[in-house]
Amino acid sequence: NYVIFWHRRDLRIEDNIGLYNALTSGKKVISLFIFDSDILEKLPEDDARITFIHQELEKIHATLQKQDASLLVKHGKPSEIFKELIEKYNISEVYTNHDYEPYAIARDKEIKELLTAENVDFKTFKDQVIFERNDIVKADGKPYSIYTPFSKKWLAALKDSDYRSVDCVSHYKNYAKIDVDFPSLKDIGFTTSSIKVIPFNMTENIVDNYEDTRNFPAIDGTSNLSPHLRFGTISVRKCVQNGLQSENTIFLKELIWREFFMQILWHYPKSVTNNFKSKYDGIKWRNNEEEFKAWREGKTGYPLVDAGMRQLNESGYMHNRVRMITASFLCKHLLIDWKWGEAYFAEKLLDFDLAQNVGNWQWVAGTGCDSSPYFRIFNPTTQIQKFDKEHEYIKKWVSDYQEFTYPQPIVEHKFARERCLEVYKKGIENF
Ligand code: FAD
Repeated sequence: NYVIFWHRRDLRIEDNIGLYNALTSGKKVISLFIFDSDILEKLPEDDARITFIHQELEKIHATLQKQDASLLVKHGKPSEIFKELIEKYNISEVYTNHDYEPYAIARDKEIKELLTAENVDFKTFKDQVIFERNDIVKADGKPYSIYTPFSKKWLAALKDSDYRSVDCVSHYKNYAKIDVDFPSLKDIGFTTSSIKVIPFNMTENIVDNYEDTRNFPAIDGTSNLSPHLRFGTISVRKCVQNGLQSENTIFLKELIWREFFMQILWHYPKSVTNNFKSKYDGIKWRNNEEEFKAWREGKTGYPLVDAGMRQLNESGYMHNRVRMITASFLCKHLLIDWKWGEAYFAEKLLDFDLAQNVGNWQWVAGTGCDSSPYFRIFNPTTQIQKFDKEHEYIKKWVSDYQEFTYPQPIVEHKFARERCLEVYKKGIENF
């Protein structure tokens, strides 16, 4: 008699709540990961995130092998795989952690129904956030759509037990002794990407100095946690413990932004494809394909915008300050729908996370829940004076900077600014 633990966005076997519950259930645990064919078929064969996931699974498998166990890695539709596993093994329960994306919610509903019909319990846990769903709501029970009161309530509600780590390691002996083959990337139809996830950097130094360094893209002043939080190669409880050790609360507040957008996605899944504030539905985006191409390729003639886009294309990462500038340039200077930019970031970012990407894009476009006001338009040239004065970041990514081959600005700043204000204003009036 076995139980299954199903890894999804939690590629670690330490401080993992669902796994801890499985390992202490009194039954032997089969550890499972499924490369979901519905998700994989939409990705290019050298997708860097698949390389990263595979590499992290290999690490888990190697640790499990020391316990004479294996990580069972499958490729296919989750419902088909569960049917196969229920037939093969005597399974009484399936354990997993919550996932708040619309696709995952629908998938989990289907799996729960399938398992229930076979008398198998589907047990799910909160793991990837400190507070989820309705944990932090207004006095009237409605969800927050403004960050500041949400973050205040989040901080006031926080108890030690909310961020205490769980000890999985002492229970590794409860893994089932099974021996299965571990598939290669090729077996699942992928090749190794040359783009790599960089390790996280959560030293005291980073957290303490975060406020002073986090806005300068040439400095290694941020934690690089985002892909690790996305794929769960670190637990959010560890990050919060670190954030609380410092007098500087700005780092912790960034983690709260992440949870804010997670609960927004949970309560408002329609915000993935619709403006959070419908009064912006009347905006007449220009959506010029050639300008969109120039933006994607980092050829707008605005060095900081181009450096950001080239960093994204080459490394799968972009500094937060530059994400704001490139996104604002797309929506406001070029008047291209934020959904186009969101989709491009989703393809390229190693840390792509639906809740964060949509939330931040809508924030920049001014259409989101707690957005930057639409008339706040970044000047992509004065931002260089403020945040990359010595042009270090620009020179790192734009090799033709200051050469005659470097493109002329795609649009004049003052003209673009006025055009944007007019189009947004008209859009709101016409709604
Ligand atoms: P740090 O500055 O060290 O911050 C620590 C952690 O706090 C981050 O890892 C992240 O989990 C969280 N955090 C920081 N800033 C934000 C923020 N603005 N919103 C939500 N959480 C935040 N982040 C993603 O994880 N995935 C995305 O798909 C994503 N898309 C974005 C799109 C745009 C247009 C913008 C402006 C921002 C986006 N962000 C996204 C947020 C932010 O840029 C990244 O989380 C951050 O740059 C990651 O670097 P870091 O881990 O070194 O961050």
